[in-house]
Amino acid sequence: MEQHQMWREALAKIELDLSRPSFLMWFQETDIMHIENGVATVFVPNSFVREWLQNKYHKTILHALRGITSEIKDIAYVIGKPQGNTGTISASFGIKDALKRKRPFSAYGGDEETTPFKDLTVNPITNLNPRYTFATFVVGSFNELAHAAAQSIIKNPGLSYNPFFIYGGVGLGKTHLIQAIGNEVLANNPAVKIRYVPSERYMGEIVDALRNQEMQKLKEKYREVDVLIMDDIQFVARTEKMQEEFFHTFNTLYERNKQIIISSDRPPHAIATLEERLRSRFEGGMIADVGMPDFETRLLILKMKVDSKKINIPEEVLVYLADTIKTNIRELEGALNKVIVASKLSNAPLDAETARRSIAAHLAAPKKFISIKKIIKTVADFYEIEERDLVHRSRKHEVVKPRQIAMYLMREELKTSYPSIGDKFGGRDHTTAIHSCEKITRDLLTNSELEEEIRAIRERIFFDRSVA
Ligand code: ADP
Ligand code: MG
Repeated sequence: MEQHQMWREALAKIELDLSRPSFLMWFQETDIMHIENGVATVFVPNSFVREWLQNKYHKTILHALRGITSEIKDIAYVIGKPQGNTGTISASFGIKDALKRKRPFSAYGGDEETTPFKDLTVNPITNLNPRYTFATFVVGSFNELAHAAAQSIIKNPGLSYNPFFIYGGVGLGKTHLIQAIGNEVLANNPAVKIRYVPSERYMGEIVDALRNQEMQKLKEKYREVDVLIMDDIQFVARTEKMQEEFFHTFNTLYERNKQIIISSDRPPHAIATLEERLRSRFEGGMIADVGMPDFETRLLILKMKVDSKKINIPEEVLVYLADTIKTNIRELEGALNKVIVASKLSNAPLDAETARRSIAAHLAAPKKFISIKKIIKTVADFYEIEERDLVHRSRKHEVVKPRQIAMYLMREELKTSYPSIGDKFGGRDHTTAIHSCEKITRDLLTNSELEEEIRAIRERIFFDRSVA
C-alpha cells in the first residue's frame, strides 16, 4: 500500500480513540515520510507535537500502523512538512469542515459544558465568564479555606497569596471560584489586566503560535497581565516543553508581583510529571483544597439554584436530591435540571418518587462504565506506569502501590472475588489480593495523601467515559 494511504488509514483508527479537538491538535499536519527497515518516519510540525506524540500517543500510533502492516516495528518522529501534500488529514474523515472553519486549535479545550454560555457572554479580553460570581457561590466547610484565600486575593492581588493553588475533584467549584476572583477584581478595578485560560487552551495557543511564528507575541500576551488564572494545570505538566514555557511566564509574573492563580485536580506533589522547580514554586504560595459539600450545604446549593430559576420545587424533592447525589456539584445541578424538565413535561405532582424516577437513569449511568479493564487502565494512567507492569509480575518498586490500589478498587467497586483479583494480576494467590486490600484500607485511615489519590482515581473511573 502506498504510504500516504497507509497513514490515512492509521489516522482513521486513531481518530476513534481521541476526542476531536485532541485529534486535530496533534495529528493535523502529520504524514509518513518513508518506511525503511520496519521504521516508519512520521512528519510532525514542531517539537511540541513531537514530544506529545512520542510520550502520549506512541503506542496508539504503532498499534494502528501494525494493524495495517505487521512490517512496522517502530516509529521515528521528525520535524518537517509533508511535501506537496497539504492537509493529509483533511482529505478524508469528515474533519474537513472543522479545518475549513479555520478554527485555531487554541479555540478548543476547556469547560465544554459551559461552551454555549461562553460563546454568548465571555469577555473576549479576559476570557472570563460573567456567570461565575460570588453571589451564586455557596460557602461551606468544604471550600471555606479556598474562599477565604480568594477574598484576601481580591483585596490585594499579587500581594497576599501568590501563587494561589486550588485543587480538588471535578465539579466541585474550582473553575467557578477562580473565575469569580477574576470577575470581582475586574469589577473593583476595570484597568487591571486579567487573563483566564484553561491549560489545554494555553497549550493550543502555543502550538498555534509556533506554527505561525508568533511565539514572541504570545509570550508578551501572557507576561503583561496583572492576574493570570490558569485552569487545570495538570495538563501542562504532561510535557516538558509546555512546562518550560509556563515556567518562564510564571517567573516573569511572579517577580513583578503579579497575581497567579492555578487550579488542578490534585495537589502539586501528586502530579507525577510536574517538574521540581514548578512544584516548589507552587508550594511556596497558598494551597487550598475543595471537597464535597455535606448534606446541608448540598441542600442550600439546590435551594439557591431553584430560587435563581424562579421555579417551585417541593422541599421533599430537594432533600431527596441532596441526599442522593454525593459525587459533586455539577452532578447535583444536572440531576436538578433533569427533575425540572420532568416536572415540566408531566402533569403529575412533583414528589420524591417522580424525582427518583427522573434521575434513575442518571444515577445508574456511571456504574455501567466501570470494568476491571477500566480500573487497570485508569490506575496505570494515573501513576504513569505501563499497564503491563501493573498486571504482570513486575517487581519494580513503583508499581507496588498502584497494584495494591487497583486490587482495592476492584474489590470495593466491583466486588470482584479475591481469587479472581489474584488471577487478573499475573496469577497471584488470593491471599496476596486480601493482603493488598487490607493494606490500603488500613493506610487510608492515616494517610490523607493516599485518600486524595484514590479519590482522584475513582473520579476518573466514574466520570471519564473515554475508557470503556
Ligand atoms: P470544577 O472546575 O471544580 O470542575 P466547576 O467550577 O465547573 O467545577 O463547578 C461545577 C458546577 O457547579 C458549576 O456550574 C458551578 O457553578 C457549580 N458550583 C460549584 N461550586 C459551587 C458553589 N460553591 N456554589 C454554587 N454552585 C457551585
Ligand atoms: Mg473546572
